[in-house]
This record gives sequence, structure tokens and C-alpha cells, in this order.
Amino acid sequence: MSWFRRVEKGIVTPTEQKKETPDGLWYKCPSCKAVTNTTEHKKNLYTCPKCDYHERINSAEYFEVVFDENKFEELDAKLSSSDPLNFVDTKPYPKRIQATQEKTQLIDAVRTAHGQINSLPLVVACMDFNFIGGSMGSVVGEKIARAIDFARQHKYPFLMISKSGGARMMEAGYSLMQMAKTSAKLALLSEEGIPYISLLTDPTTGGVTASFAMLGDFNIAEPGALIGFAGPRVIKETIGKELPKGFQSAEFVLEHGFLDFIVNRKELKQKLTDLISMLHQPEEAEKNTAATRKKTIKA
Ligand SMILES: [Zn+2]
Repeated sequence: MSWFRRVEKGIVTPTEQKKETPDGLWYKCPSCKAVTNTTEHKKNLYTCPKCDYHERINSAEYFEVVFDENKFEELDAKLSSSDPLNFVDTKPYPKRIQATQEKTQLIDAVRTAHGQINSLPLVVACMDFNFIGGSMGSVVGEKIARAIDFARQHKYPFLMISKSGGARMMEAGYSLMQMAKTSAKLALLSEEGIPYISLLTDPTTGGVTASFAMLGDFNIAEPGALIGFAGPRVIKETIGKELPKGFQSAEFVLEHGFLDFIVNRKELKQKLTDLISMLHQPEEAEKNTAATRKKTIKA
């Protein structure tokens, strides 16, 4: 009887890769294996004190890093996905959404909010990877588009924190439309002279890389983040060649001109503040908005 025998061969986990750290007390760095007290790790903004490995964090943690005293007002917090295609894979899409919502306590894969960063106003959209791989469905696209509109309305700079596996397969074509929608909104933001900073975190791939994540006035990334369009396995299978080592790391992407700089999470808030103070002149933005309006009326 096959369930008494090991059918697949070669399942061997070396001792050093076995996970044995109990949750809640200690954090074991997956890169250098150093063990840190979780409180210490949190204080270090979830980066390893020994090797600086940046652990993946979600919107709750990023909001805490960016916003003064973790004070912010969430936008469109209740926007939730419907099922336009009656999609069923291993389970119906609405069931999957509901189960993920219960598990993550999130409504969808992005949260948008406005608040202050070192006393400067800022609108932030931050993706949550633990919600169906941070996939971009219509809710993600719509929330980002609305956050950009909010930024335009108030002339606040906009920060996008991306972390995504790409388009959401269960919404097929509707997902792909979000690329055009968010890009068009960003074009309006740009015409009005309002700064847009895009932070790419681990991982930023697929349709997200191919749209809003790469459209910033500044495109910046966290160290070691995986940034690419298709995953390495897919590319390797398509072109049938070995790929250069680490070719989709933030460092490689920076070297090839797709990023402006890499920022350590511990310096993120200050760097963002510097960029915003340098880029943002609200009076200038006001003039540009008026010019855009005139153009629109003429057209
Ligand atoms: Zn480490």
C-alpha cells in the first residue's frame, strides 16, 4: 500500500535548514541563521541585526514605519472583490476570498491611507503579500486609482509600496485592465506635478512591475528584493538557458538602470522625507492642476 511507503525519493532536509524556532519568542534569520529576540527584531524594523536581511512585512508594519506615531486614516477600507467570471479552481473564488479574509483579517491585497511623514502629508498604498500572493485584482487597481485621485485632490505626494506576484488569475482580463487604469491615473498625477515615489519590496513581479511599480518619479527598492516580470523558472523554461546568478535582485536591477537607488528599511522614512521635501512644491502643483484642467476643457 503506497501510503505506507515513501513514493517520492530524495526528500532530504539538511539539519541546518530544518525550522525549529518556536513562533513568538525568537526570530531565526533565513539568510544567516542568526537568532534574534522578536522584540529586538521588531525594533530593528524586521531586518536582521547581523546580516541586514530584510524580512517580508505587510501594510500594518509599513504604515507603522512610515506614518508619524502610526497615525493614519484608511481610504476605501471596505472595498471587497466580487466574482465577475464565476471562477472556480480548487474552490470557488468567493469562497477563497472569504477564507483569505478570515485568515488575514484583510479585505483585499492592498491598503491605502493618508497621514503624515515627519509632519509632511503623504498618501500611501501598500500591498499585502499574504492576501492571495499580493495579487492585483479589480479591488487592488480600484483602491490604488482612488488613492491617486485623493492625492490629486489634496495635492499630497503619493507613495506606492509594491509586493506582488502579479495579476490575479481569478479575475483574468479584469486584472489586466488595472494596469492601464492605474497607469492612466499616475499620468494625471504627473501632469499635475505631484510627486510619486514607488518602493519595490520583496517580491515585485508580473503586471505590477509592468505598470505602476515602475512608473515612479523615483523607483526605489529594498535590499535583496526580487524584482522581475516573469519568475526565473518560467524564463529559464522559455529561453532554455541558464540565467545569471541573482539577475532579478534589486542590486542587479539597479546596476542595469531600472532603479534609482536601494534603501535600507531603517533609513526609509528619512529618505522618503528628503525626497518629498525636494520634489513637492504645493503651489507649483496647484498651477499645474489649473493648466491640466484648462487643457481638458479645451479637448
Ligand atoms: Zn541574518
